[in-house]
Amino acid sequence: MKVFRKIVDLQNELFEARKKKQSIGLVPTMGALHEGHASLVRRSVKENDITVVSVFLNPTQFNNPNDLATYPRTLEKDCDLLEKNGADYVFAPTAEEMYPTPDKRQFEFPPVSTVMEGKHRPGHFNGVCQVVSRLFYITRPQRAYFGEKDWQQIAVVKAMVKRLKLNIDIVECPIIRESDGLALSSRNTLLAPEERAIAPNIFKYLNESIEFAKTHSLKDTHNQVVSQINATDGLEVEYFSIVDGNTLQDIEKWEDSNYIVGCITVYCGKKPVRLIDHIKYKEY
Ligand code: AMP
Repeated sequence: MKVFRKIVDLQNELFEARKKKQSIGLVPTMGALHEGHASLVRRSVKENDITVVSVFLNPTQFNNPNDLATYPRTLEKDCDLLEKNGADYVFAPTAEEMYPTPDKRQFEFPPVSTVMEGKHRPGHFNGVCQVVSRLFYITRPQRAYFGEKDWQQIAVVKAMVKRLKLNIDIVECPIIRESDGLALSSRNTLLAPEERAIAPNIFKYLNESIEFAKTHSLKDTHNQVVSQINATDGLEVEYFSIVDGNTLQDIEKWEDSNYIVGCITVYCGKKPVRLIDHIKYKEY
């Protein structure tokens, strides 16, 4: 496995791979890697000749400076995990290498980029599109791997690929959870032990709401999840939206769609740490 800091060095290497007609899979990450990231890497290794993993803490997608400042940085450990999981190239540029001049491009793909995370984290998806489009132009992969952990992000990236007419397959990979149900996330390491102990309640109540939904209205199910989570000391729901899985628009009734997803953001603990999760109520 080789680690590249410079775009030109990675591109020279990929030029050779492309000459040999090798397929390229890209896994974009922000580092502090865990088993969720590893699952994407293994999938790419299985499906491509070459797997490139980018490890870049992209400043333009952080709307909260404190979130960026406290985000865990563990490049050496990340490289160990990537080598063990079969990655070929790690691309770990500096912010100056990625953005020699400020990126002025504006990406908006309403409605998918303007609701939920788009509404609560202004500029977040714009930053995601800035960095992902750059990574796509640098590596020109056949396939790029994204986790369902960031369910809305996949919809935004797909909209961008369509708009930019890029010939890249966006591969959706299932969410990986701890045995107690908590979605694996780099931010979980920021949780104090007592916060880590209550965080699994988010998925517990989401998961239990599938059964509840069978005999209750969408509105009652929504309110049940919010009130159960808010009743847990140390957890506070920012939003819970039950949406059509294709348009990402709020729906009113279970009959309104045959693909229904509940997306939640919860603040956990005193600092607090912002955790996201989702649950599928219906999938065609
Ligand atoms: P991040 O480093 O948080 O930007 O994540 C990089 C990629 O890994 C994104 O496509 C995430 O959706 C994915 N990912 C993060 N956590 C998980 C998880 N628990 N399960 C599956 N994919 C994940």
